[in-house]
Amino acid sequence: MNVYQLPSGIIQTNGYLITEPKLAEAVLIDAPGDIWTKIEPLLAKDGCKLTQLWITHGHWDHTQGASEVVEKTSAQVSAHLDDKVLIETPKVMSKFLSEEIELSPVTVNRWIKQGDHLPALGTEAEVRHVPGHCPGNVLFYFSALNAAFVGDALFKSSIGRSDLPGGDFNQLEHSIRSQIYTLSDETRVLSGHGAETSVGLEKKTNPYVKPL
Ligand SMILES: [Zn+2]
Repeated sequence: MNVYQLPSGIIQTNGYLITEPKLAEAVLIDAPGDIWTKIEPLLAKDGCKLTQLWITHGHWDHTQGASEVVEKTSAQVSAHLDDKVLIETPKVMSKFLSEEIELSPVTVNRWIKQGDHLPALGTEAEVRHVPGHCPGNVLFYFSALNAAFVGDALFKSSIGRSDLPGGDFNQLEHSIRSQIYTLSDETRVLSGHGAETSVGLEKKTNPYVKPL
């Protein structure tokens, strides 16, 4: 499997393309604006078809490119029900944005929840619910990749904002401790913004959330 970190859109949100050339299949985690222009050549290079789009949470910068991706690929979309309003009616976020940012709704095919296992790429990913930055933030943990795609819950040496609508610091702290810091120290943490980190490194050095 190949994992591509693809910062895209006006605030360089990370989308992650995971390809499995042996099965000619690919999964995209988050769809920031303009992500299609980045994934199209990679899908061609690896000879893969995008079959699924998994959304970590409903903030506009993670979903802005989703309708184009779905139109081009017919990928099936999965997201958590707690972000249904943000994903299906993104104009509710427009009061926080400048006017030229265009948002189009995305149709979700499958609502996912804590403990679901999503088969993909000849393996599966576990869904863990990590609210606190956004009510429907989930992470996707692939044991086969030793990697967790965490959206905006946790960043290298930082954490997601908890001052946006639906955010709550205590809830975020609990999510990180119970759902991320319980993964093995070697687990790669791939966040919605910025560089990769690991569970062990954040447990040791994150200035905002310490393990219990
Ligand atoms: Zn966010």
